[in-house]
Amino acid sequence: MYRLPAHQLLPLLRARQLRARDLLEKALARIDGLDPTLHAFLALRADQARAQADQVDAELDAGRDPGPLAGLPVALKDNLCLKGTPTTCGSRMLETFVPPYDATVVRRLQDAGAIVVGKTNLDEFAMGSSTENSAFGPTRNPWDPQRVPGGSSGGSAVAVAAGMVPLALGSDTGGSIRQPAAFCGVSGLKPTYGRVSRHGLVAFASSLDQVGPLARDARDCALLLGVLAGHDPMDSTCRDLPVPDYQALMDRGIEGLRLGIPRAFLGGLDPEMATSFEEAGRALVGCGAELVDVELPHLEYALPAYYILAPAEASSNLARFDGVRYGLRVPGPDVATMMRRTRAAGFGPEVKRRIMLGTYTLSAGYHEAYYSRAQKVRSVVGEDFRKALARVDLLVLPTTPVPAFPLGEKTSNPLEMYLSDVYTVGVNLAGLPGLSVPMAPVRGLPAGLQIIGRAWDEGGVLACGEAFQSATGFHLAAAELGPSSGGPA
Ligand code: GLN
Repeated sequence: MYRLPAHQLLPLLRARQLRARDLLEKALARIDGLDPTLHAFLALRADQARAQADQVDAELDAGRDPGPLAGLPVALKDNLCLKGTPTTCGSRMLETFVPPYDATVVRRLQDAGAIVVGKTNLDEFAMGSSTENSAFGPTRNPWDPQRVPGGSSGGSAVAVAAGMVPLALGSDTGGSIRQPAAFCGVSGLKPTYGRVSRHGLVAFASSLDQVGPLARDARDCALLLGVLAGHDPMDSTCRDLPVPDYQALMDRGIEGLRLGIPRAFLGGLDPEMATSFEEAGRALVGCGAELVDVELPHLEYALPAYYILAPAEASSNLARFDGVRYGLRVPGPDVATMMRRTRAAGFGPEVKRRIMLGTYTLSAGYHEAYYSRAQKVRSVVGEDFRKALARVDLLVLPTTPVPAFPLGEKTSNPLEMYLSDVYTVGVNLAGLPGLSVPMAPVRGLPAGLQIIGRAWDEGGVLACGEAFQSATGFHLAAAELGPSSGGPA
């Protein structure tokens, strides 16, 4: 049952062949068995989840409709506010912070009948690509526990990949949904900027952050996006546009579509990743699509621009963690000392590095040289994408240059770690939707095919993912979790 996608669990739940409470108990038992090894979760809320599952069962028994996700266990990345439960962001700074309200996406999940089982591990404040920057220890990849799951939504990707839950939420500022999805062999979507509310998502870089689904396949991403998407008066950047019925778009196929490949940008690709990507291209052609070479001449500048802009926004957003209002406070003889001590003790090394980088590039005298120039690069990268997507329907490229790397391999070299995001950050700068779905494995490890669409065309992106998955079946492979990891394969 832990391998069934949500869209196959739902009919069983509705037909009362499967009780929400039983499904939840299976999920909790699986977490119990595997999480000591994998550490996907920072917190569980088993009792509240049980009460919610019983309520869903009662409503279904009474013939009422408890919503489109009724009875499905869902995990939340721990930078999404869940009322009454600690929201740590993987940081000592917020270890004791309990939000007094639910994020809009959390409220929407609960209104749809989903059962929130717990909060998942992440790189501190979502800054990282391996989940090793969590103050509470790393998460491990179920395909090889000596390797990272990617990040920063590593816990959510592992919770899905290991069959603990069918659905999870992540956030993606520069790749944090797509890259861990690729490393763990699951599907993950970063929606168009403004498609999903950020109210109650702890901000990293506000002009780039977007919440999105991680799931077993594209169809489940569509199911979850349909619940998450739509206008929210609590987030002025969340656009008031109609939300299509994504599920209804899933079977339309990609016959006759033009898919663009930015070949010049893929020069340094790992040879086996390149082979997997070529094979993916052939499968897409087999589905009736045409592959076209496209130019995105400024895309190579997306990574350096991202690593100016994201830290600049982070340095401003994280100024609020000063020992006064939220979480940690280390006392001192005066206010300035208290703040200095609190921030010194509360933030880990990567977060401090980003705050220093961001403060530097925004400071008088350097603003023009760094921040303003990076903003200009952002505009031309966006223009490149718009021009390319005027000629083709979608863009395809690998999600990452290499598959999951060993724990510790890149922790002492931040630049190496930043290069993990080379294929994903451009999409955030341009604000576009991007999906990662599993393509042929590379050296026995999952690899991701990234599908990018025009703004607001999540439906087209997901339909392409679905067509690719029905043709290839790579998403059906599951990590072989041996008895030493506490569970059967
Ligand atoms: N890995 C990137 C970073 O460290 C992206 C993180 C994210 O998308 N939250 O900034």
